[in-house]
Amino acid sequence: MTDTPTQLFIGGAWVDAADGATLPVDDPATGEIIAHVADAGPKDARLAEDAAVGAQDGWARTAPRARSEILRRAYEIIIDRTDELAHLMTAEMGKPLAEARGEVAYAAEFFRWFSEEAVRIDGSAGILPDGRNRMLLSRRPVGPCLLITPWNFPLAMGTRKIGPAIAAGCTMILKPAPQTPLSSLALAAILKEAGLPDGVLNVVPTSRAGEVGEPLLRGGRVRKLSFTGSTQVGRLLLAQCADTVVRTSMELGGNAPFVVFEDADLDKAVDGAMVAKMRNMGEACTAANRFFVHRSVAEEFGRRLAERMGALVVGPGTRDGVDVGPLIDVKGRAKVEELVADAVERGAQVLVGGRTPQGPGCFYPPTVLADVDPESRLMDTEIFGPVAAILTFEDEDEVVRRANDTPWGLVGYLFTEGLDRALRVSERLEVGMVGLNTGLVSNPAAPFGGVKQSGLGREGGRVGIDEFLEYQYLAVPVQ
Ligand code: ADP
Repeated sequence: MTDTPTQLFIGGAWVDAADGATLPVDDPATGEIIAHVADAGPKDARLAEDAAVGAQDGWARTAPRARSEILRRAYEIIIDRTDELAHLMTAEMGKPLAEARGEVAYAAEFFRWFSEEAVRIDGSAGILPDGRNRMLLSRRPVGPCLLITPWNFPLAMGTRKIGPAIAAGCTMILKPAPQTPLSSLALAAILKEAGLPDGVLNVVPTSRAGEVGEPLLRGGRVRKLSFTGSTQVGRLLLAQCADTVVRTSMELGGNAPFVVFEDADLDKAVDGAMVAKMRNMGEACTAANRFFVHRSVAEEFGRRLAERMGALVVGPGTRDGVDVGPLIDVKGRAKVEELVADAVERGAQVLVGGRTPQGPGCFYPPTVLADVDPESRLMDTEIFGPVAAILTFEDEDEVVRRANDTPWGLVGYLFTEGLDRALRVSERLEVGMVGLNTGLVSNPAAPFGGVKQSGLGREGGRVGIDEFLEYQYLAVPVQ
């Protein structure tokens, strides 16, 4: 990792912050600092904006095939460097190496997918109903974009935005999370190697997110914000976008219900729960947050889930055989501890876990809570940790009402062997995505996104590129 860049990437060059500031990046498994990265301030943001604005016109006019081939080359380089990138992610955010390798493949796939979409941006032509005018409809890049990404999937959240932006012909300023800047900088180096022209992508890690982001969003030159993060920060950014009417895509928080009906195949339900809860140590917006299990199978489900969760090995992500790495930081773990303590105070039973281990690193054990009081704080808070909270229900109408009783609507999971019920309940859930007898929905070829306060717009799939394109209609009289 000695050759991983640690400077800002602006206009195709690696540079220090104008004021020389740096920010430390630590390994959550040990607490040790692994790198000091240039810490951008407002002046650097301005330079990155100049570079992105300056490159926009030429990039928009670059042949779609050329843009496509850059993405395809970058896809291949990422796959070739899977191990190196996986180690980098594990070092800066803690996930076990096997999961990090999985994320590298997932992240790379966005580049392959959008390399294929770049050459399929089409328009249409026709005669309007009055017979006097023609309509030529084409699609244009929206313009320079600000991309803000979180720390939980440092590589994939970057490629999911950069891929369609490149395909559409947009230039970018990427602001990664301060906890995980190294993966984004490594990605910039790969894109440069793949032939991305200078200024098309600029990367500005910063500990001063507000000072960097706000002038960009209020300045009138950035035309699009694509944000993944908390609903709270999303709301703030939407307000900042209002003055200059910046287009936005928002991937915000979730509070996923995981519903197990009495006719579910419990093996499938427990397998699904392990993925929906434990992927990325529970630090995912798609993580199952509320387990609603039919009263007749709740005890059996809880017993089996606790057995599987209790068998997971917790430890540093680089160690062989480890299933569960550390949480991102002390603050993240303290939040999980508080939520569990609150649920237990309100009468929840701890079937497994629930105790913070001694020693260094931000570890927290896989935990299953049964008989959770619906008033518990973890019912309306994203847990973002390895804690499964089980509640029981009696009938379909009741569980649909309770599952929808939240301001969020990203994803829901349903387990039932009845086709009619599966379709009926899926249609009634107020969510953007449903996992039916599966705990995993994310796929680069499918539109990812939520309804209600979980966000605006979709990423990935055929529609993912639309977020970075505008229609232009040309009226031409029929002579
Ligand atoms: P989390 O709680 O998962 O860290 P956040 O919403 O706080 O989620 O962070 C997601 C991303 O938003 C990160 O890159 C973070 O630095 C960035 N961010 C946080 N506050 C602001 C802000 N005021 N302006 C711009 N970006 C912000």
